[in-house]
Order: sequence, then structure tokens, then C-alpha cells
Amino acid sequence: MNVSLYIVPTPIGNLSDITLRAIEILNSVDSILCEDTRTSSVLLKKYDISKPLKSFHQNNEHKVYNGIIRKLKEGERMALISDAGTPGISDPGFLLVRACIEAGISIQTLPGPTAFIPALINSGFPTDQFIFLGFLPHKKGRQKALKQLANEQRTVVFYESPHRLIKLLGQIKEYVGAERKVSVSRELTKIHEETYTGTTDEVFEYFNKKEVKGEFVVVIDAKKEKE
Ligand code: SAM
Repeated sequence: MNVSLYIVPTPIGNLSDITLRAIEILNSVDSILCEDTRTSSVLLKKYDISKPLKSFHQNNEHKVYNGIIRKLKEGERMALISDAGTPGISDPGFLLVRACIEAGISIQTLPGPTAFIPALINSGFPTDQFIFLGFLPHKKGRQKALKQLANEQRTVVFYESPHRLIKLLGQIKEYVGAERKVSVSRELTKIHEETYTGTTDEVFEYFNKKEVKGEFVVVIDAKKEKE
């Protein structure tokens, strides 16, 4: 298969979490689309990858994707990476992939790092069925989304920024229930990695006592039938 655009996952912390194939592909393309060229340069330098970098992020993707499609049609081969993890997962990617499909341009996504999978497994909650909600809306729709989770019978995973974590745990207590189990994975693959799991009350108390720093994935246990 003649692939024009590769979607390449990159590490979420530990720079060793890159696949051999990701390195191979990044070395073989004509250019690399990066969310933040400075952030990606650190990784690319570590693996001696030297390619022209083009900026592709949530503030310019709507403007630049037509130009990228044109270049791909002219035969340029590109890779898309984001600052961390899998492009398109709470990161730019979807718009470009859809445009490629519509234009008949072949794409291929490599498997690789993403933050929500290790957090889900760490939680010990059922993994046979789960939903991933990305970032919840900050204002409009947030309360409604959380209320709906009270009856969710699948494990729920989402991302949250450090400055909203306590607020979120408080809202889960209020709308989903203080006894529902929650698991918070923090700084996955990094020096201060930790996962804390317990009732929402316990997890709230734990994080409320300390300085909330780093990157977080929140996992809510499925509603049990007897609840
Ligand atoms: N594309 C990424 C992926 O595949 O996971 C997600 C990018 S999103 C902009 C960033 C969010 O992912 C963070 O706010 C955090 O919720 C989560 N995240 C990324 N790296 C993480 C890590 N090392 N530990 C915990 N959460 C992480």
C-alpha cells in the first residue's frame, strides 16, 4: 500500500515508549506535521530524526489542512505527530484524516502510546466495555454529562487538567455518588507516576490534601447492578 500520511503516536512521558516502526516511519517521510515543533524537536533529536517540521495545531488546522492535502496529492509523504500520545485523541488529527479520506489520499495510523489505556487498566475496573469521553465541557453541558454517568454501566474514562481535578471529583461525588469507585492516574510513565483508587470520597480527600500537579486521567467504575 502506498501511504501518503502516517499518524504516528509518540510517548506520553517516557521517551523510550516509542515503537521501532514509529522511528522508521518518521525517518522515511518527507516532512513531519507537529503540534509544537519545539516539543517534538526534543523527541526527534533523541532519535536522530532530522526532517522539515511543519506546524499543525488546533489553532491553525482549519487554515492549513487544504494546503497539506494539496502537497499530499502532489506526492509528498508526511507524518502527523502531536505533543504526546496518539494524534486525534483529544489532539488535532481528525479533521485532516477526514479530509484525506474524502480526497482519496491513503493514510495509516500506527498503534502506540495514549494516556487513557494504561489508566483504564491501572484502575482494575472492567475493561470489557468502556467509554472514553476526552475532556468534559468546562461549562455548558458539564453537569448534564456527569449526571448521565450515574447510570452508566460501562467504565468511563476521561482527561482532566490539574486545576480542575478537585472540582471534577467534587462533581462526581455530587452527581454520580460519593461511594462510586474512581481511579486517578497521574504522570503516567514519568518519575512521579501514581494511581490512586477508592470511593470518590476517598480519592477526593487524597488529592484535596496535596498540591495537584501533573497530567491526569480519571476513570469511573461502572454502575453495579445492585446499586
Ligand atoms: N493525544 C494524547 C493521548 O493520546 O493520550 C492526549 C492529549 S490531551 C491534549 C492531554 C491530556 O492527556 C492531559 O491533560 C491528560 O489528561 C492526558 N495525559 C497525557 N499524558 C499523560 C500522562 N503522562 N499521564 C496522565 N495523563 C496524561
